[in-house]
Amino acid sequence: MGNASRKAGGDDPTRFTDGEIKILCEECGGRCCFCIPYTHDLVDINGFLRSGDVTMLAETREERKRLQQELAFIAANWIQIPVVEAKRTATYDVPGWSTEDGNAHYYNCTQWDAATKKCLAYGTRPPNCRGFPFFDKGDPSDSSDYLGCLLVKEAKRRQRALIRSRRRALDKRINDAREGAASPCGSDA
Ligand code: SF4
Ligand code: SF4
Repeated sequence: MGNASRKAGGDDPTRFTDGEIKILCEECGGRCCFCIPYTHDLVDINGFLRSGDVTMLAETREERKRLQQELAFIAANWIQIPVVEAKRTATYDVPGWSTEDGNAHYYNCTQWDAATKKCLAYGTRPPNCRGFPFFDKGDPSDSSDYLGCLLVKEAKRRQRALIRSRRRALDKRINDAREGAASPCGSDA
């Protein structure tokens, strides 16, 4: 399962407590951990790892290091599955990532325990698993909910509530200012 533990609070709708993550991920059933779409197939992943060169995928040294860890974990722990199997098992189907248009490659993860619905490599899971689904952006607007991720749905619900509450506070300030202007204090009249 995806998201790293976070502390709740503040105005960031993507921040969840460990308890909230546990409830939502259990309710979801861990759909980000089986039939996982990924941009590269295993032939390319192994090629990048063998060459030790991921410069065409990442610009900075930090990004390259992170990506190499990610690719190494995938090569060791993910099993690529045929599109037809993905089509049968996927709980999602989204434009751009659909099993029809071939833009993604699909994997099972050997660290996913389907019986307990837990990640067996939670402490050592790769950056793409740790960051999912918000990748520390602090804004769920860009987070694709193609998986039907309940964290994304909840964060977007919180974001809408936050916007409504800010709008109400702004309306109140405007009304207060208008009423203040209508009956000024300390008038000479
Ligand atoms: S898809 Fe979202 S809610 Fe479901 S297990 Fe993954 S992170 Fe949790
Ligand atoms: S490593 Fe863990 S979090 Fe990542 S896909 Fe596998 S089971 Fe899920």
